[in-house]
Amino acid sequence: MTFVDVILPVPLPGLFTYALPASLESQAQAGCRVVVPFGNKKVTTGVIARLHDQEPVGVTVKDVVEILDDTPVILSSQLSLWQWMADYYLCTIGEVFKAALPAKMKTLRTSSLFHLGGIREESAVRNAFPVLSPAQLSALTAIKESWQRLPVCLLHGVTSSGKTEIYIHLIAEAIAHGEQVLYLLPEIVLTSQLTDRLRAVFGERLGVYHSKFTDKQREEVWYRQLSDQPYDIIVGVRSSVFLPFQRLGLVIVDEEHEVNFKQQDPAPRYHARNVAILMATRAKARVLLGTATPSLESYYNARTGKYGLVTLKERFGQVLLPEIEIVDVKELRRKRMMTGPFSPQLLERMRSALDSGQQVILFQNRRGYATHIQCPVCGWVPHCPHCDVPLTLHARSGRMTCHYCGFTAEIPARCPACENEQLRPHGFGTERIEEDICTFFPEARIARMDLDTTRTRNAYESIIHDFSSGKTDILVGTQMVTKGLDFERVSVVGILSADTMLHQPDFRAFERSFQMMSQVSGRAGRRQQRGIVILQAMDVTLPLIHQIVDNDFDAMYQDQMLQRRQFTYPPFTRLIFVYMKHRHASVVDMLARDATQRLRNLFGTRVLGPDEPPVARVQSLFIRRIMLKLESSLPLARIRQLLWQVKAELQNQKTYTSSQIYFDVDPL
Ligand SMILES: [Zn+2]
Ligand SMILES: [Zn+2]
Repeated sequence: MTFVDVILPVPLPGLFTYALPASLESQAQAGCRVVVPFGNKKVTTGVIARLHDQEPVGVTVKDVVEILDDTPVILSSQLSLWQWMADYYLCTIGEVFKAALPAKMKTLRTSSLFHLGGIREESAVRNAFPVLSPAQLSALTAIKESWQRLPVCLLHGVTSSGKTEIYIHLIAEAIAHGEQVLYLLPEIVLTSQLTDRLRAVFGERLGVYHSKFTDKQREEVWYRQLSDQPYDIIVGVRSSVFLPFQRLGLVIVDEEHEVNFKQQDPAPRYHARNVAILMATRAKARVLLGTATPSLESYYNARTGKYGLVTLKERFGQVLLPEIEIVDVKELRRKRMMTGPFSPQLLERMRSALDSGQQVILFQNRRGYATHIQCPVCGWVPHCPHCDVPLTLHARSGRMTCHYCGFTAEIPARCPACENEQLRPHGFGTERIEEDICTFFPEARIARMDLDTTRTRNAYESIIHDFSSGKTDILVGTQMVTKGLDFERVSVVGILSADTMLHQPDFRAFERSFQMMSQVSGRAGRRQQRGIVILQAMDVTLPLIHQIVDNDFDAMYQDQMLQRRQFTYPPFTRLIFVYMKHRHASVVDMLARDATQRLRNLFGTRVLGPDEPPVARVQSLFIRRIMLKLESSLPLARIRQLLWQVKAELQNQKTYTSSQIYFDVDPL
């Protein structure tokens, strides 16, 4: 009798064993999808992980109902990657399966296998090859030399140094050797500019993969990658690490520092850069991490000899890095010279840029109109009834919105506490900046790029297209405008409040602020002309502000490493967060105390907390968090085992039923 161990898309640990009817035996292979009976629901779709002949003892084994595939749709390399992800990120392999496969492939309906014949001619690489500058050429050579010694290389190249041209050369070489390339990007917004460029060179050999694609399109790419005519290059966001690759030779992770590479919710809470590095190592492929502002972890790996390091300090075409002017907002406020969030210096620079037909980017890392509204008489602030945050004012819709759960409410006509009728907006979001800037430059064409204006993929693209073709003059935006977009006529960048980002309760706040501000500054003066950045700050004495002005990444790195060593943060330790959620505060508090005690018995002083995360209540669930700070030398397998054990003990207690407990490994 043959049995199959099946991965099911459920948050229960382990594999599920089923018996294989004789009629299906010839068809069954690891990596094929099966339909099996499960729980009260009649049937569900799973994937065969392995076949064997050991009958499970003491349980009734049900039969496989149907096998959906004649050949595996998940390669053995993928199955083992899924297992690694489940182990490392402390989730179940079923949760990885759920995230990995396009939704359609998880449905019961047998998929019509795609007809792949005659999709493309073996198209040659086209003649649109970029010519490299001497600096780019020597970087290219250095990267290849570095790969002789180490599989991973970090390319630290200033903004506008022409990293993409280097990537194109490396991709062409890989393809010429019959290898496949995975090109990872942090954001969908970046894919269209990039794929246009890559298509010009590589034509139909290029496939794109991301979540804004329809499920059918994603399924098509998946099957194409299994065929004997797969795409040579896949450009995509983090989910592309789940695609099948038969001869992966090169992985490029562009903007490797971006937090979007980390999946926050739901499980698996994986970091696509790190998963890609593991994938590449297993496939004996090379990895290039590219960025103008490396993550401190990657830079540390490069400085300590784990990765190669290649630096590119020159901007392409000898364009100078922008000049950065610091503006002391506190001083100007005292002299009553600020107009809302705008300094006279910023307004003047904007005026002269607009007068000479140049463009302006204004960066404020907060969307909405105001951060909140407040009653000036009694101080009342409206909060979300489900989450522990003030509601953000959105003037255009005339409503207040919770940015965590989406709850919205009308702006009250009067203060419910004291009946005062003049409620006042506080703080500046991008929406308010967009509105205010109209009054200074009524003739300018203004666009806004943030989560509210880019709900659809077309909206993204049309904002970017309008700005790069000169249809708009001023682009106001959140961190979205800091991404590696290439605009030709931006001569002024305004950073409206540089130091607010530093006041996040997060040991990465300085690193993030440096990255964001350096990146947005890099949008200024891309071609022919030196740009100017107006950096407004309340506290102009902060060392970080000066490190940004001097573009001194190493100084920031040294500063932060000192701090992290002193307070034992990554890369000197490994962090694991344990999250607990429940709809009653009293239950979650009890659970958190209980969990902490159990963990302390095992891990001693490595356990910190419990505490409340910055937003301690979301969607009516109260949240508590425990932090584990573990020496990198500790054996991970044993730690995992203990954590699973504690989780199981807690969830077996009646008091805590209907609570959620989950882990976030290497949280960002
Ligand atoms: Zn009031
Ligand atoms: Zn809410």
